[in-house]
Formats: sequence, structure tokens, C-alpha cells
Amino acid sequence: MAYDGFDLTGKTAVITGGNGGIGLGFARAIAAAGADVSIWGTNPDKNAAAEAELQAINPSASALRCDVSDEEQVEASMATVIERYGRIDACFPNAGVGTMNNRPFFEHSNEDWHGVIDVNLHGVFFTLRAATRQMVAQGDGGTLVLTSSGTAIQGAAKSQAYAATKGAMLAMMMGLSTEMARYQITANAIIPGWIETEMTAKSFGWDKFVDAVMPRIPMRRWGQPDDFGAIAVYLMSDASRWHTGDVIKIDGGFSIF
Ligand code: NAP
Repeated sequence: MAYDGFDLTGKTAVITGGNGGIGLGFARAIAAAGADVSIWGTNPDKNAAAEAELQAINPSASALRCDVSDEEQVEASMATVIERYGRIDACFPNAGVGTMNNRPFFEHSNEDWHGVIDVNLHGVFFTLRAATRQMVAQGDGGTLVLTSSGTAIQGAAKSQAYAATKGAMLAMMMGLSTEMARYQITANAIIPGWIETEMTAKSFGWDKFVDAVMPRIPMRRWGQPDDFGAIAVYLMSDASRWHTGDVIKIDGGFSIF
């Protein structure tokens, strides 16, 4: 008999930043495992393309236009998901932006700082608050998966705001994992290595960067969004119901080399 611990039929996932990159990697696998998937993003064209792709996997998938840095949009989007699917079993606060410039720290403007914090930290707070409220009311557990970054541990030159948000996500995850355990809600964070997405396109197109970084990846390739499908299914499934408070690196060995 086949092992059915990864079957997600009847469950619903919210994936912010699910219209591309790592979030779409999560969404494809979760939809294929049988769950209803709601992906959120700000770009209508990316939303439409990803929605069509996911509906070919599981017709119930849908996209919502939502800027996660806007509390009202997050609350309205979560209400739409609950109305459409009846429940929320998993929340993946994954939407994120990088630092928009390549300037030294002492030249970072308030706008630079707030632009990153608004999406990567306030957006995560708004999303997790709305999702946990619903999960606790449902009373039958849930899954929280935060997309952090190696910069949470190593820092990032010229991207201190970005690294600060990713470090804060680990702290949020740990506090949530203890507070939510009594409700059978697990919370974990993923630390991706260097993944080929829109966010890294500029760096990966720069010879000096590639020559410096690729030799430090034992697996000798960039990660791909679909490298994140299995962990998303596992963390959302009943198979991981006692797995909480963890930081899971998926980085081709980058961090230990
Ligand atoms: P990506 O392809 O650029 O994805 C970013 C996603 O976030 C997009 O779907 C984007 O959709 C969405 N987004 C951005 N601002 C948003 C907002 N205000 N409201 C709602 N959605 C918003 O890059 P990615 O690499 O997959 O990034 C996903 C996550 O992984 C990020 O949190 C990133 O920090 C993290 N990460 C990436 C790497 C890497 O090497 N790529 C490494 C470590 C961690 P729209 O464009 O439609 O807004």
C-alpha cells in the first residue's frame, strides 16, 4: 500500500509571493498533492500566468492581487480565501523584496529601509496574524512556513534592511512555534541558498558574482524553485505534525562549505 502521509486533499494553503520564484515552486507541489492553493502577488500579469499554470495542476487554485505591506489588503484577501475555500490550513509568508540599490550602508535612505521592512517584515506580521486567527478558530491545527534567508545568520553587506527582516522572521517563527503548539499549529522557517528567480537575476548575470559564488556551492548549480516543492508538501502534511520550531536549510551545501 502506498504511503499517504503527504496527501493534502481537503487542505487549503495561502502562499504570498506565490506567482513566481520559490513561492510558485511551493504552490506547484502543494497543488499536485491535492490542496487548494491561493497565491498572492501584486503584479496582475504574473498572477494570471501563475493561476493558469496552477489550475492545470489543480482547477481549484486561484490568485489574488494583494500587497502584503497593506494591512487592509491582507485582511481582505484572507477573508476572500476563507469565503472561497472555507478554511486555511497552511500559510507561507514568502513574499519578499531585496534591497533596491547597491550603496554603502551610510547612504541608505529612510525610504530604502522602510521599503524593505514594509514588505518583508510588516507584510509577514499582517499575513501570519490573520492566518493564525483563523487557524485557532478552526481548532484543528495548521502549518506556518516562513521563507527566511542565509542573511538572517550571516548578514548582508549593503543589504542590512533585508538581512534584518530575515533574522526577525526566525525570531517570529520561534515565538510562534511555542505559542501555537497548544493549537497543534506548527511553525518552521526555510533558509534557501542561491536560487534562480527574478530576485537573483541581476546577480546571476554578473560574471564576478558567479565566479565567486558558484565554487562555494558543493552541488555546483543554482537552486531552482521546484527544489522547494517537497519541503512545502512535507511541512503542510500530517507527516510533519510533530516537527516545529525548526530552521531548514535547502542550499546545495552552500552554508557548510
Ligand atoms: P521573486 O521571484 O522575486 O519572488 C518574490 C515574490 O514576492 C513575487 O511573487 C512577488 O510578486 C512577491 N511580492 C513582492 N512584493 C510583494 C508585495 N508587496 N506584496 C505581495 N507580494 C509581493 O524571488 P524569490 O527568490 O522567489 O523570493 C521569494 C522569497 O525567498 C523572498 O522572501 C526572498 O527574500 C527569499 N529568498 C530568496 C533567495 C534566492 O536566492 N532567490 C534566497 C533566500 C531567500 P509580485 O512581483 O507580483 O509582487
